[in-house]
Amino acid sequence: MEPDVAAPLQKVFLETFGCQMNFLDSELVRGRLAERRYVFTARRDEADVVAFNTCAVRDHAEDRVRNRLHELRRAKERRPDLVVAVLGCMAQREGEALLERFPHVDILCGTREFGRIDELVERVRGGSGPIVALGEHEPLPDGRRDLSQRPQKHSAFVTIQRGCDRACTFCVVPRTRGPEVERSMDDLEAEVRALVADGVVDVTLLGQIVNAYGRKSGGDASLARLLRRLDRVDGLLRLRFVTSFPTLLTPDLMQALQDCEKVVSYLHLPVQSGSNSCLKRMARGYTVESYLRLSDRLREVAPKIELATDLIVGFCGESDAEFAATLDLVQRAEFVQAFIFKYSTRPGTAAAERMVDDVPQAVKEARNQELLRAQEEIQRRRNRARIGSIEQVLVDGPSKRDKAVLAGRTSANRMVHFRGAATLQGQVVPVRIGDATALSLSGTQVADG
Ligand code: SF4
Repeated sequence: MEPDVAAPLQKVFLETFGCQMNFLDSELVRGRLAERRYVFTARRDEADVVAFNTCAVRDHAEDRVRNRLHELRRAKERRPDLVVAVLGCMAQREGEALLERFPHVDILCGTREFGRIDELVERVRGGSGPIVALGEHEPLPDGRRDLSQRPQKHSAFVTIQRGCDRACTFCVVPRTRGPEVERSMDDLEAEVRALVADGVVDVTLLGQIVNAYGRKSGGDASLARLLRRLDRVDGLLRLRFVTSFPTLLTPDLMQALQDCEKVVSYLHLPVQSGSNSCLKRMARGYTVESYLRLSDRLREVAPKIELATDLIVGFCGESDAEFAATLDLVQRAEFVQAFIFKYSTRPGTAAAERMVDDVPQAVKEARNQELLRAQEEIQRRRNRARIGSIEQVLVDGPSKRDKAVLAGRTSANRMVHFRGAATLQGQVVPVRIGDATALSLSGTQVADG
């Protein structure tokens, strides 16, 4: 359908919840709508289209969207032509039940339908009733990327793989994102080259189970080969990837991590629990011992790599002894970062159907705090060991608290603050570290590293 060039521009308010892949999906949605001459506003009250790109991984994220939808009821009564759209994982998980609770929603657009969001909005504006699009119209809408919609000049996400074929019992992703699908290495290299030509120096490859890349397409595709290809792209400074699964950390991939200069020295490898019985209930397919063996092997093959992890506390049936085992693992593994989550039941998962969420909220909270304290102590000690060193810092931009201070990251993802000119954004700058806390380093820019 051709856009009506004489019509006033329609304003879109798009709010994104959840993970990096959602933020990239929102960029794709913006691109589609911009093609139809929609413009974007940061003010919900002046928008003609209000869209939420949602997350279903934790109940809290869904609650926030429900609150937003409640708030919109009145606006929709006053302005029946307002288009309200719920996109992504929550739309996919709840399906039409969401429309029953919120009849003023016009569009449910699932995780594999982003590629036609423009068409769905146009249909609603043309008078169609609520539209439910939760199929697989366009499995990977990433190919037609509109570079003008990128939120950051120097860094970009690139989806290499979507969905997950595993069935960890706590995880809603296989239900909301469907089975694994992958893009070709040629397509990905072309996209990264286009991004670098547009000023990007820092690329993060995204996949729900990113190191499974290649197993669906067959042929010679693998994450290790993809990293080696992208490592040769001139102008690219840093290359990262999330999120990896432990049993898929192959010797080939370890070697590529060591060999590729642009690949950062940071690997996010979620362990989730330090207890074998808990890991079994989670259906993770490895033991604590095998995870530690992998991390030992990684240290031998790729000593530059520092490990980060995810941990869940209060999973169904987690006993004091199981939690103590997780605490013990954290002390032994010395992760550079650990993202700690209190378990919450997700409808549609095996844990919700077959297990009991029986750890009291107060116990989850206490375990969360204890683990955070232990990890913080490790980070403080490890960060303080960097005092006096010179770190190569990729500058993200002015810090949130003080515009005269720049914030950037080391290759191992440590946050660094230092005074410097805003023009350094997107450059790698040597910084001598003078102080450190558990969460960040600070220092002074030096002439060279
Ligand atoms: S591997 Fe990751 S995305 Fe897949 S089911 Fe397990 S936790 Fe979810």
